[in-house]
Formats: sequence, C-alpha cells, structure tokens
Amino acid sequence: MSWSRRLTTRSSGSKRSAKLIELAEHFGAHNYHPLPVVLTRGRGIFVWDVEGKRYFDMLSAYSALNQGHVHPKIATAARRQLGRLTLTSRAFHNELMGPLLERLCKLAGMDRAILMNSGAEAVETAIKAMRLWGYRKKGIPDGRAEIIVCENNFHGRTTTIVGFSSDPLSTDGFGPATPGFKIIPYGDAAALRAAIGPNTCGFLVEPIQGEAGVNVPPRGYLREVRAICSAQNVLWAADEIQTGLGRTGRMFCVDHEGAKPDLLILGKALSGGFYPVSAVLSREDVLGLYAPGTHGSTFGGNPLACAIAQASLDVLEDERLADKAEKMGAYFMERLQGLDHPALRGIRGRGLLIGVEFSGAARPLCEALMKRGLLAKDTHEKTLRLAPPLVITKPQIDAALKILAAALKEFVL
Ligand SMILES: *Cc1c(COP(=O)(O)O)cnc(C)c1O
Repeated sequence: MSWSRRLTTRSSGSKRSAKLIELAEHFGAHNYHPLPVVLTRGRGIFVWDVEGKRYFDMLSAYSALNQGHVHPKIATAARRQLGRLTLTSRAFHNELMGPLLERLCKLAGMDRAILMNSGAEAVETAIKAMRLWGYRKKGIPDGRAEIIVCENNFHGRTTTIVGFSSDPLSTDGFGPATPGFKIIPYGDAAALRAAIGPNTCGFLVEPIQGEAGVNVPPRGYLREVRAICSAQNVLWAADEIQTGLGRTGRMFCVDHEGAKPDLLILGKALSGGFYPVSAVLSREDVLGLYAPGTHGSTFGGNPLACAIAQASLDVLEDERLADKAEKMGAYFMERLQGLDHPALRGIRGRGLLIGVEFSGAARPLCEALMKRGLLAKDTHEKTLRLAPPLVITKPQIDAALKILAAALKEFVL
C-alpha cells in the first residue's frame, strides 16, 4: 500500500474501521462475535477507536484490567524490565520469581505458589495438583480420581476444561471429554455433600460465576463449601481468575465469607492487562507434590511477567482498589436500581462485577451503547455485564448511567 493511499484510508473515517474488521473477519477464525469497534488506545477507564471516538470500557477485558488501561506504574515497570531480561525459562532461576511467589503466598495466606500464563493453564495446574494429591495423600486408586464442578461453570477453553462445561457451545464437537468430572448445581451445598464419594479429590468452583451471567451464590455458600470439603477430606479450589484481585470489593471474593480455599487460582488482573500472568496458590501438602519434570511452562514465571505482576499488585494495594470496588459498586448498583425499563428483570453482583438481566437478548443494547460511547458485553445472552476498571470515579459512573438510560429508552424487546 502506498503512503498516500494509507493517508487517505486513515482520514476516511469509519471506512478504516470497516476495512480492519473485514480483514479480521476474512483472515481470522470466527470464534468471537465482537462489537464492530476497532480500538487503538486506552487510558484508565477509557478507550479510543481508530477514528478517535472515546468510549467508557465497562468490560475491562473480562476483569483483566482492574487497574485500568495502560496504568503508568505498570507500564514503567514493564518498560524497565523489557530492557533488562525477559525470559530465562525455568531451567535457571531469575531474580524476580522468588519475591513474587513470596508476595502471593503472603497475600493469600498460602505456603506455595506456581506461576503460569493464561487462566486456563492455571486451572489445568490446579486440576493436576488435586489429582496428584488424591493419589499420593488421600490414597485414591490410580486413575480413579474425581473432581466435582458446577453447572454453568466457566474455567477456560482447553480440551479438559471444556469437557466438563455444561454449555453446548463450549462442548459440542470437541469430545471425547476427559473423564473424572462430575457436574452439580451451583450454589447448592447439599448437592455438593451428596456428590462426594470415596474417590473425590477436589471441588472446583467460581465464588461468583462471571461468564454464566454474574451468578451470585446464596450467602454462606462458600463457608458451607469449606466445611463440607474439610469434613470429607476433599480439596476446595476457588477459581478467582475473574473475581479475584479487588473486583468484588475484597482482595479475593472468598474473603467476603472469610472462607479459605485449599487452592486459589488467579489470572487476568494479575497482569494489569499487560501480559498474561496466572498463578495457583496452595499448601505445602498439595503444591509440594509437584516434583521436577511433572509440570511446567516455558514462559511461566518469566522475569517480564513477574515485574508486571509485582507492579499490578502494587497498584491494587496503593490505590486501595478493592475498597474502591466495594464503594463504587454499591453506588453503581443503587443507581442501576433506579433504572426503569419493561424488559429489566433484575440487577445482581458484588463490588464492580454487576449483571443487569433482561427478558430478551442484550446484544442490541450493547450495540446501542457502543454508538453512544460505552462498551459493554452481553453474557449468557440476556445479561448485560457491567465491570469497569476499579479506578472508576463517581462522576464517571454518573456519566455512564446517563448513556445507559438514554440507550435503554430506545431499547425495545
Ligand atoms: C477468564 C477465565 C478463565 C480463563 O482464563 P484465560 O486467561 O482466558 O485462559 C478461567 N476461569 C474464569 C473464572 C475466568 O473468568
């Protein structure tokens, strides 16, 4: 493409977006259905498209951007590390991994941690650790370990993980499913108690189901899960990839009930949105079972990831983002209750993880919001998820609500 042509394309407004979308649609697999907006820049709670239009980001990359877009402190830490050392592999030690592991363990009151990259990898790491514990510690006969999961779970996209999903879109065409998983209803402690058998090694659950439409379990559920798993010698793994690191108004969502899982799975905001970093934290008797050669990742625990994770945690703590999420979330939910629309079915959530449910598909509303400068996504078809970066302020919430109210006026179901 010649220079002059490039200039024309750039100055021709929405044509540039259309062209870029066409490229992605033509050359990419269609495994997502994105809103038709092409972003080029972000700062705090805002993003800008290639035509220069500004939007409120009410998705935060599914809670990977709790600290906001391109937080200057994380950017500085990343830049510094980029010029120094980025990858050693685990064949050698690097100076940043030990301190990060220590910090994560102290933060969660755990003995050991293991660093991975994507959330799905961390979930896989937890699954393998629970099975290993089942065989080595609980004495489950080889190859018989069972893990209990919940209906409407979302734990990632690997073959094993989608194998225990209850969403046909995730599972159909991808079988055969990995054996050894049992699905029970979410939020139902009695169902958990009944499902545990002699070969059960673990229970894997989200403290709030984000992808399923912000499903908040009954109060006391997590404490009951803790008690049941302790009484029956079963490990409890909390997938806090989406709910963790301040999102729900506490550092970890399980803190709302003072319930401590045996394994805590983190991802998303551990990266501040810069570069994938995930982790599994647990006790010595669980993670201590991994011996050299039994598990690993080329990039897991690399120096660049560690520098970014440290800075991401600094920002969460320095800016007290969990407290902010609690206060701003309460304010946001209260104001949302004031919205009036015949198709509105309910508002639920915790901190700044909020779901607004309608009687029909929320996608057209998302498109209307986009046109008015607010980006949000429908989840489980009828729920609009509102999960802005935790740095959002009251006036910004007010401004977002104005856009939402205006878009709702034109939204008919
Ligand atoms: C996003 C998410 C995952 C998967 O994380 P990836 O980084 O996309 O692999 C797992 N569990 C929960 C609860 C999530 O929200």
